Formats: sequence, C-alpha cells, structure tokens
Amino acid sequence: VGDQLLEALAAAVGAGHVLADDDRRARFEVDWTGRFRGRARAVVRPADAAEVAAVLAACRAHGAAVVPQGGNTGMVGASVPRGGEVVLSLARLRDLGAVDTAAAQVQAGAGVTLAEVQAQARAAGLDAGVDLGSRDSATVGGLAATDAGGTHAMRYGTVRARVAGVQAVLADGTIVDRPPLLKDNAGFDLSALLIGSEGTLAVITGVRWRLVPLLTSRVAALVPLPSLEDAAALLAAIRPRLATTLHAADFFLDEGLQLVLDHDGLPAPVRTRTPVYVLLECADRHDPTPDLAEALEDAGIADAVVADDSAERRRLWRFREGHAEAIAAAGIPHKLDVGVPLARLPEFAARARDEIARVAPGARPVIFGHLGDGNVHVNVLGPDPDDDAVDEAVLRLAAACGGTISAEHGVGVAKARWLSLTRPPGELRAMAQIKRALDPDGTLNPGAVFDPTAG
Ligand SMILES: Cc1cc2nc3c(=O)[nH]c(=O)nc-3n(C[C@H](O)[C@H](O)[C@H](O)COP(=O)(O)OP(=O)(O)OC[C@H]3O[C@@H](n4cnc5c(N)ncnc54)[C@H](O)[C@@H]3O)c2cc1C
Repeated sequence: VGDQLLEALAAAVGAGHVLADDDRRARFEVDWTGRFRGRARAVVRPADAAEVAAVLAACRAHGAAVVPQGGNTGMVGASVPRGGEVVLSLARLRDLGAVDTAAAQVQAGAGVTLAEVQAQARAAGLDAGVDLGSRDSATVGGLAATDAGGTHAMRYGTVRARVAGVQAVLADGTIVDRPPLLKDNAGFDLSALLIGSEGTLAVITGVRWRLVPLLTSRVAALVPLPSLEDAAALLAAIRPRLATTLHAADFFLDEGLQLVLDHDGLPAPVRTRTPVYVLLECADRHDPTPDLAEALEDAGIADAVVADDSAERRRLWRFREGHAEAIAAAGIPHKLDVGVPLARLPEFAARARDEIARVAPGARPVIFGHLGDGNVHVNVLGPDPDDDAVDEAVLRLAAACGGTISAEHGVGVAKARWLSLTRPPGELRAMAQIKRALDPDGTLNPGAVFDPTAG
C-alpha cells in the first residue's frame, strides 16, 4: 500500500526531494546541541515558493504537521521534529540577487546563508549589518524566523531592522510578496509579524535584506576585568565616546575561556587570569584605534589586548565565538538565552549561579553573552537533557530581574512552557488569536512558542 502523503509530496517537489529513509532523514532530525531530536515522517526539499505552497497543501490534505528548517543551527529545539511531522527544508531556496546599491538592499532566498549575504554585500561596498558565530550555516529564512541578534545588534539592531520585506507562504497556500519599498504602510505589515514567529505563522521563502555601510577599518580590544560590575561600568564610560563606531561589546568569564583554550589548544590571551573579559570592537571608514585607545585609557584600562589587523582580531574573537563549540564538546548543554537590563546583569549572573547550584548541585554553568544588549547566555552542563529544573530556575530569575526569557534564540519548544513569565495573559491571548487566524489547523510547527499543554 503506497503512502498517500509521500506520494502527494513527491508530486509537489519530485520524488528525489522527499527523503523518507532513516539514514537520509537522520541529520534533519537532531538539533545542533544534540538535546532535541525526533522522528520525521519525511523530509521534503522544495525548490521555490510555489513548491512550498504545494507541500503545505499536501500536508494539510493529509493532516500532517510541518516543521520548517533552515540551517538547523537553532538553539531552542524548534527546527527539528518532535515526532511524526514533515520537515520542510528550505535549503534549496538559494537565489541570491545582485545588490541594489541605490536602495542598499539585496534579495535572498530563504536557504541562502548569512555568510553568503555578507560576501555579496561586501563585494558591492556594503555590509549585512548582522554577524554571528553560525554565519556559515544559519540561513536568511531562519535568521528572520528567529529575529536573530548576534554581535552587532547594539549598533544595527536585530534582524528585524535589516528586513525590508519578507516573501512567505501562509498555511493556506497564499503567497505573500510585497514590493520592496522602504515606505509602505498600506495595510498591516505582514512581514513584521512573521519576523520572530519561529515557523509558527508562515514559511518564509525569501527576504529583501537592508544593507549597511561597509566599514573596513576595524579594531578589537580584549579587556580583562575583576567583575561584571566593572564590565557594566566600562561600557557606560566608553559608549558615549564611541557612539558612532562601537559595534560589539561581548563578555565571557574565566570558566568559559578555560573551556575554549582546552578545546582549541590555544594559549591564553593574557598573562594573568581574571574573572571577566570584555571584547570590544569598533568599525569605521577611518582607523578607530586612537579613539578606542583613548576611551579605554580615560576609563582607567591599562592592560587591554588591542588588535587592529584582521588575523589578530579573528584570534581575539575566537575566544568568544569558540564558546558554543567548546561547550558542545563537553556535553549536552541546557542553553538559556535571556535578556536583562544592563544595570542588573551582574546581579542576575551571580544569582543564576546560586539558583543552578540549588536546583542542580554539581551542574556546571558557563555564562557569556552580548554585554551591549544585556543578553546573557547561561549554558548549563550536567543535568539530563530532559530534566528542566535549571531551565525553570534561570528563566524565572530572568523574569524576576525585569528581563525576558529569550533575547535572541527564540522560545521554540525549549521555553514554550514559560512564555507566560514574560508575556501577560492579554498578550498571550492576542498571539493565540493571530496563530488561529493564520494557521487554523495548527499545521505549522506545533509545540513551538505556544505551550501545547496550556488550556
Ligand atoms: C555556533 C552558534 C552561534 C550562534 N550565535 C548566535 C547569535 O550570536 N545570535 C543569535 O541570534 N543566534 C545565534 N545562534 C543560533 C542560530 O544560529 C540562530 O537562531 C539562527 O537564526 C537560526 O538560523 P537557521 O537557518 O539555522 O534556522 P533553523 O535552526 O533551521 O530554524 C530556527 C527556527 O526558525 C524556523 N525556520 C527556519 N527557517 C524558516 C523559514 N524559512 N520559514 C519559517 N520558519 C523557519 C524553524 O522552524 C525554527 O523554529 C548561534 C548558533 C550556533 C550554532
């Protein structure tokens, strides 16, 4: 007896792009962290928006749920199946247009990677305005669906600020594609609604990406500090001075640095170990080094490691960007990406450590993040993947500190249960109404963002 769903999917995209065998599905069924996995009914790989619409029609007709997937670098378990869904991979939507330099925009298919957008923009004298460690795999569709942040958000905003328009297929097969106009307020902005919707409202097939000036002169500085209070004070002191050039201010702690050094076999960046490191980067058309050096000196910093050539800058960034891989090599982490007001970040980090020790004695926290955005990545090694006591404790603490349970990774399935910690009932009701209006059958990414166990 033939499987009617598989036959309908094959009719939509061609049999060669419906992966039903265990070994061909496997890599789509587990997330980057290894914490989330599930069996897919099939993995389907459409080539364009029309094929995406046909896939959604087939799934609707056969009552199959759909999990959209881009580069599968998401951290909250929402890009992989929970059990029995169809994984809709957007990896083949790879059209990348020529840069429109007059508009400072480029059109990119959902499956184009961030690194490819960056390269295309830079070749035309512009830049993507977004950067993150997963740049070689994370896709335009995934970045928009999660409203990703990254290291330059303090200067250019999150992905939302980079999107001039989204092309998407709604659950009922409607293809949404507004003209690429910067100013277009004729009616609701559906693009804005889809950014950060994590595959629950529509399937994004392309993005009109807004570019920023290419700033080729860059300098980075790694600043060792005694405490996170000092890190926050440093940022407060230098930010006004470097208002037009500072584009990254990340932090990590000695515990994370040691993990990266061991994993990568690298020498330490400074002679004396200190509890906290802040990594600053400035970019401009003219050399920003003197301004940064002066600002650091005035802030009383004498021992920063300054890197003004690109190899040396990459070396410093490796200490920060190597965290995700070094942690993953040490075990399956619980990844809690939260945001707190900068003034409360030191208090949050200290209390998070206490809370983790209380609910999971022996667990190993690794804390780092984007200082400029108050965005803290609390990674916890030790507890079982299914034991979410640390998740609950840390998310409750973030909310108690006036923050959010998700700053840039999204809610996904990992945090759906706790969304009510930061969104009041009225807002949750409005979100549920929007979900019902756009996806009445609940086809798109069930279990993500919305708590499936809530009434
Ligand atoms: C080493 C490393 C560093 C990272 N650093 C950062 C960082 O600094 N900042 C940051 O924000 N994130 C970071 N991430 C997380 C991740 O890269 C981002 O969330 C990214 O936006 C996910 O893109 P993706 O294409 O891999 O999406 P996926 O992981 O495939 O999917 C993520 C979510 O988007 C949905 N989705 C994907 N494509 C579509 C589509 N076309 N239409 C509708 N829904 C879709 C999925 O259903 C899922 O809910 C990092 C990840 C890694 C591994």
